[in-house]
Amino acid sequence: MSQLVTGTLVQSYTICSRQTWLMAHQIIPDQDHSYLEIGRLIDEKSYDWARKKVHLENVVLDLVRSEEGDLVVGEIKKSSRGLESARLQLAFYLYKLRKYGINAKGRLLFPEERRRIDIELDDKMIKEVEDTVNEIVNIITKPYPHSFKKIGFCKHCAYKEFCMS
Ligand code: SF4
Repeated sequence: MSQLVTGTLVQSYTICSRQTWLMAHQIIPDQDHSYLEIGRLIDEKSYDWARKKVHLENVVLDLVRSEEGDLVVGEIKKSSRGLESARLQLAFYLYKLRKYGINAKGRLLFPEERRRIDIELDDKMIKEVEDTVNEIVNIITKPYPHSFKKIGFCKHCAYKEFCMS
């Protein structure tokens, strides 16, 4: 079942497990939601000089660059406010690549803040990724999501209308 886990689910897991379940079950949020739109614009307009999408099973890597012989996988993010979830999502991508025998480094890019954070997959991070994948499998194989409970992120969430109606 772990093959069902995507980078997007890993990121949502750090925010709200109800969101993780909804995403995994193809319940699509409002695509006009401004939060998604800003994310799309940043994704489309930033880093044109290096932009690539690479598909690896169910993983989509935003950007892959080679620096001094190293493979560097980049993830472009709207803001560093969600740093923890972005860090775990990128670690998940590095983990998937490692499974294929590809050792890559990670780089989180925050174009609006002109900031970048480098990430390496060490033993602690591998354990964190594996625990997270197991937890996500537990969540998404349940027949229903957990009931709605308002959290701080709800006001930014594309599922807001769905959950609060
Ligand atoms: S609106 Fe709130 S409870 Fe619903 S999925 Fe989003 S974050 Fe989770």
